[in-house]
Amino acid sequence: MRTWLKRLMGLTLSRRSGVSASETRPAMKDTHRHQGLRKRMIDALRQRGISDEAVLAAMMAVPRHFFLDKAFEEHAYEDKPFPIGHKQTISQPFTVAYMTVLLQVKPNDRVLEIGTGSGYQAAILAALGARVYTLERQEALYLRAKALLAQLGVRNVRCFWRDGFGGLPEYAPYQGIIVTAGAPVVPEPLRQQLAIGGRLVIPVGEEVQYMHRFTRLSETEYREEAFEAFRFVPFLEGTNKKDESS
Ligand code: SAH
Repeated sequence: MRTWLKRLMGLTLSRRSGVSASETRPAMKDTHRHQGLRKRMIDALRQRGISDEAVLAAMMAVPRHFFLDKAFEEHAYEDKPFPIGHKQTISQPFTVAYMTVLLQVKPNDRVLEIGTGSGYQAAILAALGARVYTLERQEALYLRAKALLAQLGVRNVRCFWRDGFGGLPEYAPYQGIIVTAGAPVVPEPLRQQLAIGGRLVIPVGEEVQYMHRFTRLSETEYREEAFEAFRFVPFLEGTNKKDESS
């Protein structure tokens, strides 16, 4: 974890080339002020009941402002979601923390994320030492997140432009699967791609979603747990090419 943090910080501050600068921001700085604001965000998460130290450390290590539009940089450490373009949002820090705690990631776990969006949640999973596979249906978001993660030197995340309903069978089984869009139903392929003992964390519902965790107990049995209510952008079928509207 610490090594990852140093590696991330070192690379973010020194590496400016290698990725097309048009898609990502050229000079990203993580100043003392950003770090101070991030510390306050962590304190606020503790107050809301997040007590998993590994998750809190990962969220302290990853500069959330790198994943937001410059226009929202000032607000990056408030506990709020923000638009990331294409009618999508980066989830609020409490939601990211809550889901990551439920996922119970261990170093070297293979984790599948559905809904890359900004790439922030993927970076948090990578900071916990997971080998992350992340799927995004919007080509423009996929391209941006992929370039940004490369620029930050985050190596243990692989990005795919794909509809997440079918999961990613090529690399299954996964110790963890996390869906970061509101799903009307739980896609069967995702349950099937869990390792025995693996966990699927998914917000289920139409208008409001209740966070669910499915733990695979055997080839055929799953334990289902339901948690608090959240509001997510919808889980949509099919992929969307750059420049198309929805
Ligand atoms: N994890 C993201 C939050 C993204 S919001 C972050 O940290 O920023 C949810 C994302 O899920 C959106 O980018 C949306 O385009 C994507 N999405 C919705 N339905 C999808 C599907 N079927 N397959 C893949 N991605 C999907």
